[in-house]
Amino acid sequence: MELPANIQTIIGSILALLGAYAALFLIALVIWTFRDIRSRTRDILLQILATLLVLVFNVPGLVLYFILRPQYTLDEAYEHALGQEALLQDIEERYICPSCKRKAQADFLICPYCHAELRKRCPNCERLINLNWEVCPYCGQEQSESREQTESESGEQSESE
Ligand SMILES: [Zn+2]
Ligand SMILES: [Zn+2]
Repeated sequence: MELPANIQTIIGSILALLGAYAALFLIALVIWTFRDIRSRTRDILLQILATLLVLVFNVPGLVLYFILRPQYTLDEAYEHALGQEALLQDIEERYICPSCKRKAQADFLICPYCHAELRKRCPNCERLINLNWEVCPYCGQEQSESREQTESESGEQSESE
């Protein structure tokens, strides 16, 4: 069957428009994927693979990319690591009595609840040091003798850890 010439032109231009739209859409997808993968990994090979995946397979490729891409962007991963570090520091700073597990401060000599010995003073420089340290880190004083004394005074509190 024969269509009038002007209808053929209209259909032709609609098809051309659709084709151009599809091409633009594909280019946009590829550019988006490239930007997205670059924010998630510094691995050049992965960046190329992800971009090729979307370039070759289009929308199904994009779906695959969504499934396989790294979970966090580099910024998010960095923030996550920072958060973990802060959390660790928080735990380290929160000192807990090893005997009764109640809150204590890092500079407590004795637990105010159960009277367990938490720290001692270096006999040489008077600074607070851990019970199980063999040498004072501040002045280098050997602690073995005074440690035996504290052990005999306070029972088996000091070797815990
Ligand atoms: Zn205690
Ligand atoms: Zn000391």
